[in-house]
Amino acid sequence: MSSDTDVIVVGGGPAGLLLAGDLGAAGIRVTVVEQLHVPSTESRASTVHTRTMDLLAERGVLDKLGHVPNGGRGHFGGVSLDLTAADPSHPFAGQWKCPQTRLEVALADRAIELGARLRRGHVLTGLVDCGGHIEATTRTEDGVSRQFTGAYLIGCDGEQSTVRDLAGFRFAGTDATKEMLRADVAGIDIPNRRFERLEHGLATAARWPDGSTRVMVHSYGATPGDRTTDPTFDEVVAAWEKVTGEHIGHGTALWLNAFDNTTRHVTEYRRGRVLLAGDAAHRQMPVGGQALNIALQDAAALGGKLVGRITGEGGDELLDDYHRERHPVVSRALTNIQAQTLLLLGGPEVDPVRDLFADLMRFPAVRTHLAQMISGSTVSTSSTETKETTGMGRLTGKTALVTGSSRGIGRATALRLAEEGALVAVHYATNEDAARETVTLIEKGGGRAFTVQAELGVPGDVHELFLGLERGLKERIGDTTLDIVVNNAGATTPTGVAPEDVTPEEFDRLFAVNAKAPFFIVQRALDLLRDGGRIINVSSGLTRFANPEQVAYSMTKGALEQITLHFARHLASRGITVNTVAPGITNNGGPIFDIPEAVEQMAQLSAFKRVGEANDVADVVTFLATDDARWITGAFIDASGGTLLG
Ligand code: NAP
Repeated sequence: MSSDTDVIVVGGGPAGLLLAGDLGAAGIRVTVVEQLHVPSTESRASTVHTRTMDLLAERGVLDKLGHVPNGGRGHFGGVSLDLTAADPSHPFAGQWKCPQTRLEVALADRAIELGARLRRGHVLTGLVDCGGHIEATTRTEDGVSRQFTGAYLIGCDGEQSTVRDLAGFRFAGTDATKEMLRADVAGIDIPNRRFERLEHGLATAARWPDGSTRVMVHSYGATPGDRTTDPTFDEVVAAWEKVTGEHIGHGTALWLNAFDNTTRHVTEYRRGRVLLAGDAAHRQMPVGGQALNIALQDAAALGGKLVGRITGEGGDELLDDYHRERHPVVSRALTNIQAQTLLLLGGPEVDPVRDLFADLMRFPAVRTHLAQMISGSTVSTSSTETKETTGMGRLTGKTALVTGSSRGIGRATALRLAEEGALVAVHYATNEDAARETVTLIEKGGGRAFTVQAELGVPGDVHELFLGLERGLKERIGDTTLDIVVNNAGATTPTGVAPEDVTPEEFDRLFAVNAKAPFFIVQRALDLLRDGGRIINVSSGLTRFANPEQVAYSMTKGALEQITLHFARHLASRGITVNTVAPGITNNGGPIFDIPEAVEQMAQLSAFKRVGEANDVADVVTFLATDDARWITGAFIDASGGTLLG
């Protein structure tokens, strides 16, 4: 059997249902496939923040929900925080309480009223992107297989998303290091506790209106180990007793659950015709009830873009805008959740940080900032404001290769280019962990990047590099277009080698890495570079002043500068600029920069009497990569902080 629809939504939780309603409201045919036969009755999230209240009100869902009580003050990592600080005049300022189960019923009613088809009892077993459409296969409990075809498929199928796995999304992040147990227990009478950090752990207890009590407990240092099932009541009883000294074993567990601080985020929200929203796209510790809110905000953002795409208002760039809009926002939310987890579940060693935090929270600007972050309102205090509100940096839509960006100047450059919106290929030779760390840092900042390995200076080096580069680009943008090449990787001579002692082998190695490889990288990049592209060669101030110990190295940089000169003329007709940036002594995290006396001595060489930081150089390279530098080509730009000016 086959069933045609415009959009297949996998997962009938809050995100999937809100999205289905939004699509239905625009006249788009939408089918929701959900594995549960009946809506869940499990007690899950219940906190609704300001931005989400807005979204629900705009869609008439608040009216369906009836009375939604105010949830009182909020907290940041257990430190009391009045969330109305986000915007005290907002009609939904603060936080509100509505069980997820009730919300799901209201969202399902709306989606169905607006024409969405809800198919329960279907487990997704396969999906195929057929180019022009998507085919999804499901199986029902009685083994019947069914096929759904649609123009797009959206995975709203939660933390364990099958869509994410089947479509091959990368779910980057960190594994759990802390675990918390929770239970609803009937028949006990213990005092309410609100995030009490006690000698052996953290405890929270709240009596529900039905007389049962929700307990949550973390014993400092507890990790999930290899837990695959819910905890037993005995485990909860033991942990509670250890942390609070209270015995609750005579009660009856109504619900048991464990959660941990696994933090993951897909590196892209769209792969072809498949997109993700909600917990399918990110996993986080459920502190402060942000997960439900982020999921609904994802769905609302995606709905508008999908409607635009399907009704022909715009092309695929609309769907990529969804990634650009949500990825940075969610990355920031995941960071604040990680910070809150540390403040809550860290042992006594985090007490000074908590005290400092509590102290900082006396300042109205801090309270407003944190409350806005949690409430989902625009945060307007950072220098990236424009980028966050518009989703656009100066290099949005561009791609960049930065050789040698696992560390030092290359890493700083990769981070800056990504911050401006470029998708960055982070190249390295051997230091894979460092290269991955660069990518992680970029993703945390809301950017996009991937690693490419290739040792330069050996036969086949450039070919190897471009194989990885082209594969990485194709996977992410569908083609191999390149906008920016930064020839940064460099080999240096060890200090203390007199010119008399340079061997032919060392000389050849330096030339192979620093001059030959960049030449052939540029040559090979010519086919991929878009007109208006950028080539930036990282040389050294040493081509302008003498240091006999570095004669061979400096010769290689002199050769590199010739690439700038001649290719600048060669490529001008295509609007491609080619420039050299020459750093002076720059802190690349090497061991010498840990020796204060050495740093002090090196600092004296600069007119500013300090050594350069990697960002000092990265900012110059980034400027050259932007359109602001369109009138500069063939230039040698000294980025040495006025080294040896006299
Ligand atoms: P760095 O910290 O030493 O890092 C070097 C980078 O280049 C690493 O990513 C390394 O990859 C990569 N690399 C080194 N040899 C390679 C090879 N044979 N094949 C492929 N990749 C290789 O570098 P840095 O100090 O930031 O310097 C960056 C650039 O600035 C270099 O061209 C350097 O000559 C120039 N520069 C630096 C200074 C300074 O004071 N730092 C001053 C003037 C000029 P792995 O991590 O995998 O090894």
